Amino acid sequence: MKDGCIFCEIVAGRSPAHRVFEDEEVLVFMDIQPVSEGHTLIIPKVHYENLFEATEDAMAAVARVSVRVARAIRQAFAPDGVFVAQTNGVAAGQTVFHYHLHLIPRWHGSLPQLHGRRTAAPEDLAATASRIAHALGGES
Ligand SMILES: [Zn+2]
Repeated sequence: MKDGCIFCEIVAGRSPAHRVFEDEEVLVFMDIQPVSEGHTLIIPKVHYENLFEATEDAMAAVARVSVRVARAIRQAFAPDGVFVAQTNGVAAGQTVFHYHLHLIPRWHGSLPQLHGRRTAAPEDLAATASRIAHALGGES
């Protein structure tokens, strides 16, 4: 837990987020400024600034969950593909300094963006989170 970190606040339940899934190690929630419908973030619950700080075990936990979430996104939204990316350091485009993995549904012709420019409506994010959570539940 790091003071002033928005993702630590979300983990602690002190800031709102449209949660999709969580276990002991990771939390999955909707990006508040989605590039496309279904844009999801996976974070370790422990604060690591980025890949340079994170433990191999924490990254393994994120990777494990990413398999299930990517399949759930595919089931829920039927995109042509899912872009998976994460950034380490300002020069790489990192804007929130708590490790996070982006899963972004893409369709043929969509722009290769990582960060959206507009905050989505809460009801839209809630509906999207619910569709992915439902697809996750249906898989297990
Ligand atoms: Zn944090």
